[in-house]
Amino acid sequence: MAPILLPQIRCPKFLRKAGFRAAINIHHPGLPGAARIKTDTATNHMAKYKLEYIWLDGYEPVANLRGKTLVKEFDSFPSLEDVPNWGFDGSSTRQAEGHSSDCVLKPVGVYPDTTKENGAIVLCEVMHADGTPHSTNARATILDDEGTWFGFEQEYFLWKDGAPLGFPKDGFPAEGQGRYYCGVGYGHMGDIAREIVDTHLDLCLDAGLNHEGINAEVAKGQWEFQIFGKGSRKAADEMWVARYLLLRLCESYGVDVNWHCKPLGDTDWNGSGMHSNFSTEYMRTVGGKEYFEALMAAFDKYKNEHIAVYGPDNHMRLTGLHETQSIDKFNWGVANRGASIRVPNSFIPNGYKGYLEDRRPNSQGDPYKIASRILQTIQTVPTP
Ligand code: ADP
Ligand code: MN
Ligand code: MN
Ligand code: MN
Repeated sequence: MAPILLPQIRCPKFLRKAGFRAAINIHHPGLPGAARIKTDTATNHMAKYKLEYIWLDGYEPVANLRGKTLVKEFDSFPSLEDVPNWGFDGSSTRQAEGHSSDCVLKPVGVYPDTTKENGAIVLCEVMHADGTPHSTNARATILDDEGTWFGFEQEYFLWKDGAPLGFPKDGFPAEGQGRYYCGVGYGHMGDIAREIVDTHLDLCLDAGLNHEGINAEVAKGQWEFQIFGKGSRKAADEMWVARYLLLRLCESYGVDVNWHCKPLGDTDWNGSGMHSNFSTEYMRTVGGKEYFEALMAAFDKYKNEHIAVYGPDNHMRLTGLHETQSIDKFNWGVANRGASIRVPNSFIPNGYKGYLEDRRPNSQGDPYKIASRILQTIQTVPTP
C-alpha cells in the first residue's frame, strides 16, 4: 500500500496560513482557519474542492450577499471555465418572479479561499433560466472600460450588541472622536479589531484581490480598507468579494459589519463612505485644465443621477459636516475633504492629470452602479 502523504505540501502557502490561523485560535478558538489537513494517496491528485458560490440577493435598497457550497473534484485549482452554472431558490431571496422560482448562478470569477483546504469563492451573476440577466443583476448591464481605473475606499463599523465594537454597554465612550483615526493601543482600539482587519487583509491577498491598505477610521470601531482595479467590473467584483470575506470572518468573532452610512445618526460621530477614486486613460495621459473643467461641469449637471446610485440614506451623511459636502451641492477642491470631488495635490501641478476622488458614494453603495454612473458622466464629455 502506498504511504499516506500530506498532499497539501504542494501548497506551502496553505500550510503557512494554517499555522498562522492555528496560532490565532489559541486566543479565539472559534476561528475558521484551524488546520484541517487531510490525508491522500500519492497517486491520486484529484481533490474535492469546496466552491462557495456567492451572489447578490434581491433586497432593496441594498442587496445582501448570499452563498452556498458546491463540492466538486478537480485535479488543480479550477479556472472560470471549469466551474459550472448552478441554481438556487429565488423565492427565498426576493428574486423569484411569477411561479417559476429557480434562478441561475452564472460564475464570473473564481478566487482562492484559504480559510479552507481546497476552498474557492465563485462570484456569480444571477440569471433567469432563459439565460437573460435578472433585474437584480446590475453587473450584467453596467458600463465598463479597462482603461478606467477605480480605487474604492470602503469604510464600515465593526458592530456588536447594537453598537460599534468597543462602545460601552449604554451610551457613548467617555472620549469623543479624535484619537481613533489610525489609532494604536488597547484603550482606543480594543483587543479584537486589529486581528479582524489584519486577517481580512490576508484573506483578500490570498484570494488575489487588489487590497491596497487599511486604516482605523475617525469613529471608535470604524475602519477602512481600499480595493483598486482596472475596469469597473474588476474593481467592483473585488470589492464584493472583499465585503463577503469580511462578513464571513466576523461571524467567528460574534461581530457584525455595519455598512450603514450613518449608523450613529445625527451625533458628533462620523458616517461611513466609499470614496471612489477614478482615472481614465485620457485623464492620466493627456488631461488639461479645459477638459477638467468640462468634466466637473458634467458632474455638476448630473449630480442628482450620481446621488441616486451612491447608496441609501446619504442625506444623513452628506450634511456639510464631518468631512462631507451637502447632498444638494456639488463642488470640487484641491485637497479639500469637505468637497464633493477632491482633487489630489499633485493633479494641477501635473497639468490637470491623474485621478479624482468622488467623496459622495457611501459605504452601502453598490460599486457596480457607482462605477458605471461615473463612466456614464465621463462619456458625455468630449475629448479634444
Ligand atoms: P485618502 O484616504 O487620502 O482619500 P486612500 O489612500 O485611502 O486615500 O485611497 C486612495 C485610493 O486611490 C486608493 O484606493 C488607490 O488605489 C486609488 N488610486 C490611486 N491612483 C489611482 C488612479 N490613477 N486611478 C484610480 N484610483 C487610484
Ligand atoms: Mn482613505
Ligand atoms: Mn476614510
Ligand atoms: Mn478618501
